[in-house]
Amino acid sequence: MDTPHTPYSPLTDSILGRIRKAVGEKALILDACSREEFGRDATGSGCLPEAVVEATTAEQVVALMRLANELQFPVTPRGTGTGLAGGSIPVSGGVVLSLARMNRIMDIDPGNLVVLVEPGVINGDLKKAARELGLFYPPDPASFDTCSLGGNAATNAGGASCVKYGTTRDYVLGLDAVLPNGELIRTGVQTRKGVVGYDLTRLLVGSEGTLGVITRLVLKLLPLPPAVMTLVALFPDLPSAMHAVMKILSKGYAPCALEFLDRHCLDLVGDLLPFDGVREAGAFLLVEADGAPRSVAREIEEMGEVCLESGAGQAFLAPDAVKRARMWDVRKEVSLRIERGASIYVPEDVVVPLGRIAELVEGLPELEDRFGVRIYAFGHAGDGNIHLNITSRSPGALAQVQGAIEAVLDRVLALGGTISGEHGIGLVKKRFMAKELCGESLRVQREIKRVFDPGHILNPGKLFE
Ligand SMILES: Cc1cc2nc3c(=O)[nH]c(=O)nc-3n(C[C@H](O)[C@H](O)[C@H](O)COP(=O)(O)OP(=O)(O)OC[C@H]3O[C@@H](n4cnc5c(N)ncnc54)[C@H](O)[C@@H]3O)c2cc1C
Repeated sequence: MDTPHTPYSPLTDSILGRIRKAVGEKALILDACSREEFGRDATGSGCLPEAVVEATTAEQVVALMRLANELQFPVTPRGTGTGLAGGSIPVSGGVVLSLARMNRIMDIDPGNLVVLVEPGVINGDLKKAARELGLFYPPDPASFDTCSLGGNAATNAGGASCVKYGTTRDYVLGLDAVLPNGELIRTGVQTRKGVVGYDLTRLLVGSEGTLGVITRLVLKLLPLPPAVMTLVALFPDLPSAMHAVMKILSKGYAPCALEFLDRHCLDLVGDLLPFDGVREAGAFLLVEADGAPRSVAREIEEMGEVCLESGAGQAFLAPDAVKRARMWDVRKEVSLRIERGASIYVPEDVVVPLGRIAELVEGLPELEDRFGVRIYAFGHAGDGNIHLNITSRSPGALAQVQGAIEAVLDRVLALGGTISGEHGIGLVKKRFMAKELCGESLRVQREIKRVFDPGHILNPGKLFE
């Protein structure tokens, strides 16, 4: 755990006394062990905050931010710390503000297909509560059973179902946020449409906790699709798998997942796939459809035919929910096995235009040779969001891994892509922001930050150098 290098004054006993008075004794955590835990995220890195506040009400958040504004100490919002960009690491010390205990589903309105939640609700808990009422909350980051909806909104989280259903931003109708000066604003609507004023909801969603602390979300729900079917196909090489993806999408099918694994990934998890031909295959595609039972059955069958026409050696239908879950387990097991087998492991989540996925992935062996690293590629083929896991077995190969990351990002940008599709910029990618955004765009973004947070006290050190 690193010690923060910070231009802010340390939290003195007198400041801690005022925080205690503002948020209450029970909400303030000062013991080093707990502070250490709240100072980390899923990147594995962390910094020790001087204090943690575990809020249970929006009033506590208002009181803390008012005090932070008056005394100019930094506050870093935190959901459940599953972020992969270092966004909730308190690099400037000060207070980590945990929203994890603000975890009530306040009201589900099945008639209007809307739900009001606090930010600490776990994504999977909302999915479950909605399902029990015949409703559906689509955003599905792979971390859905541990990440918070506030964190999802702050990072605009996505997942496999984005190809059909879009990202978190498409489901946030409105929100409450506490600004760095302690004011609480309510943005957006509780209706399906609304265009009054600037769209502050969409600005706050994806702002990675740098503009306001989200204390309530109004989310859109859908009716639960009655049927889901899953198909997996093995291809001799990646270009033929990507050809199938393009054909599926251009023919107007609407799969709710189109996930691929490359050859390196098949080497790692091929033992979990109960089919012949895995060893010889160059790529694996998982295709899923949901909707009315008859149309789903027809659509999945036709998409299977498209796979075979595009060169798949085999295409298998998962016949029941258990086999379906097993196929998804294989997809999820990939990252675990990659991480387990490497001393250095950096997950990048780039996006390229659909027609250029194969070009990107086919170019990876040259980068592996040049930098002496291993790069595993898998992810959301349906929206071009590729998880490139850049790894080395040698703990001393950090410079080579860093070199490979930079070369990969340059190539992605040259292909017309973007350096992050879901994980965000946070700490780990801020040095690459200027590669993608022009100087004018960065200037406007810095000015927006200044309007919201002139004292630079909310999540400092993130997004911008
Ligand atoms: C195994 C694994 C799989 C993953 N798969 C995916 C995936 O498929 N798709 C995807 O998008 N991500 C994925 N992630 C990344 C991560 O789960 C998401 O970024 C998630 O949205 C973070 O939520 P969190 O509650 O953990 O937020 P945290 O990590 O606590 O915080 C993330 C950012 O949000 C800010 N923040 C959190 N809560 C609030 C709030 N209430 N108000 C303002 N700012 C706030 C923080 O300051 C920080 O900048 C994965 C992570 C892991 C470990």
